[in-house]
This record gives sequence, C-alpha cells and structure tokens, in this order.
Amino acid sequence: ECETTEKAYKSKIPEYFRVRPLSNKEIKAGDDSVVNFPGNGQVLVDGIPGGPSGGQKAKLFSYNVVFEPGATQEDVLQFSGMKRLIEMGVEGFRCTCFCYGQTGSGKTHTLTGPPGLLGIQTAPYSDKHGLVFRSFMYLFKLIQEQPGIHFVLKASYLEIYNEKVIDLLNPGSARKPLAVRWSKKARGFFVENLFTVDCEELDDLIAVLEEGLRNRSVGKHNMNDYSSRSHTILCVHITSEQPAEGGVFISRSGKINFVDLAGSEMTKKTQSEGKTLEEANNINKSLMVLGYCIASLSDSKRKNSHIPYRDSKLTKLLADSLAGNGVTLMIACISPAKSNIYETINTLRYAARAK
Ligand code: ADP
Ligand code: MG
Repeated sequence: ECETTEKAYKSKIPEYFRVRPLSNKEIKAGDDSVVNFPGNGQVLVDGIPGGPSGGQKAKLFSYNVVFEPGATQEDVLQFSGMKRLIEMGVEGFRCTCFCYGQTGSGKTHTLTGPPGLLGIQTAPYSDKHGLVFRSFMYLFKLIQEQPGIHFVLKASYLEIYNEKVIDLLNPGSARKPLAVRWSKKARGFFVENLFTVDCEELDDLIAVLEEGLRNRSVGKHNMNDYSSRSHTILCVHITSEQPAEGGVFISRSGKINFVDLAGSEMTKKTQSEGKTLEEANNINKSLMVLGYCIASLSDSKRKNSHIPYRDSKLTKLLADSLAGNGVTLMIACISPAKSNIYETINTLRYAARAK
C-alpha cells in the first residue's frame, strides 16, 4: 500500500481509478462489460469498434492503482492516497481530492455514498458510506492522537453551476451567486461571504455534509441532470497551534477540498441551444480549463509556462492545491459498460494527461 502511494505521489497529480460494477439496468438491457484487469494497475478495454477489417480492437492503459468493481468504500480510503492527503492537510498543506468521470460512473457514490444514507441518527455507519465520511473519521482520529496541538476546524460547502458560485450551507437569499476574489491575506482566491461553520466534533462535519447535500437537491426538477452539470466543493480548513520552545507557537493552516465534478461528457454537449448552450459552454470551460491546468503542471517542459487558473471559477478555487506545494489527487470513475465505451476511453485518456 505505502509503496503504491509513494509511487503515485511522485507524479504531480496522483491518479486512481475506480470501475463500478455493471448496474442491474445494464445487465437487464444485455449490456456487456468491456473493461478487464490484467493486473499491475492495467486496464484493458476491448470491443472498441474500428479494428482491422471492420472488426474490433483493444486498448491497454497502465496506471498505479485501479479499483476493480469488487473494491469496497473502505478500500478506496485505505488504498487511494487519501489518508496521506488528510495527513498533509493536517500538516498545513492545501489539498484537493477530486472525482472525475461521466455521469453515472460513480463519482457521488465514491465521495458520499448512495443518497439518503447519511444522518447522524443512522450511526454506526455502514459499508456504503463514502470517502468524505471516512475521511472525516480519519481526520478526527489524527487530531485526537495529537492532544498537545490545538486544532480549529471550519467547513464550507459550495456549488459551481453555470460559472456561478452558490453557497450550499446558506442558499437562502434566492441562491444569490457569490463573488470569487483574490487576496494576499487569504493567500489566493476565496469566495466572498461564504458561510463557514466551526466544527468541534465529528458530528459537526457530518452535519455540514448533510446540509449541503440536502440543499443541493432541493427544488431540482431533474436531480441527475442538474448534478451532472454542477461542480461541488466541500472544504475543510484545518488551522493549528503547537507550543514550541521559548513560549512561541508553530501555526499551521491547511485545507482539504472534496470535489464532485460535473459529468465529463458535458464537455462535448455543445449542440444544445439557448441557455443550455451557455451552460454547456460554462461547464465545458471549467472542466476544459482544469484539464489544461493539469496538463501544464505535469509537463516538465512547460513548467515555467503560464497556467490558466484564472480562466474558470473551479480552477481559481483549486489553484492553491494544484500549484506550488499544494497537493491534489484524482479519482477517475469509470463505467464498465459497452454502451459507455467512448466516455470510458476519454476518461482513461484525460487521466493519462494528469500524470
Ligand atoms: P455520478 O455521480 O458519477 O453521476 P453515481 O455515483 O450517482 O454517478 O452512480 C450512478 C449509480 O451507480 C448509482 O446508482 C450508484 O449507487 C451506482 N454505483 C456507482 N458506483 C458504484 C459502486 N462502486 N458500487 C455499487 N454501485 C455503484
Ligand atoms: Mg453525481
């Protein structure tokens, strides 16, 4: 485990893959799985049209860590580098974990688990709880192990829809969009008037997660369509003071962003019209700029070139964890179904750029 984590962290954006099981609906419809696992982090996609003499071809991708359909939610916490990311957030780094993939590939499942699962009342938690919940538990474990350090946790939860930032913890005021600004004091971009909640207990963090999920889905005609177009960022700020020699304190200020991205297929849905076209373009823009930033960061030849964080709200808000000594890890979610084969290949390629 440690070895693969170390290996993955040698790249600027460590990447992990999760292939979900075929759904009952897909099985009923006679859809086949086209994703195979030859071992050693390899992913073999077969049944791709366009092979020799009108046949099919296969493509082999090779990565550090791949979660096969049988992997559990706990496996993803244990073997994704997520624990290391949380440790770094506690140590004062700016960190991001984002889930990338087409709609229905398992991003929300991976981050938060199935809908309606949360609820402090439902404790003890089940094997279905997602990465965010498990990360919170690990975070509190780390903090409790260091009683000599005084920690303060604050959390915020926002949504970017159509390049507008909406506060998921305070969506009142007619879901009025908030401004993204830059300041020296904040050491980067920040969202003006974003509600932040002091979290003294694990339950406080879980309440933030629940509240945001609830507000995200309130009043949406078609939740799936909506969630496929918006990005959400749940951010936990971790500041600490550690007594040191001579009566001084060592102060640290880190954060962890959990990002559920819009469906990657949105980058291509530009044929639509009117408002939808604007939406498509904006969603397109955030994901495309994110892809471009990642590619620029990981290409050593382009190290000194301009990285266009300012070109989208999403990349502005993730800039400090993508750049400098920030840390970002990506979980690419994949459907095994033949009917999704082109999106699957696109996701495997997008991730390859993040190396
Ligand atoms: P996305 O957020 O990428 O649009 P979802 O997380 O909503 O996708 O997943 C789509 C469906 O597949 C949901 O019904 C979800 O419960 C199911 N699903 C996704 N990943 C898994 C998994 N690893 N195991 C079991 N079911 C999954
Ligand atoms: Mg989702």
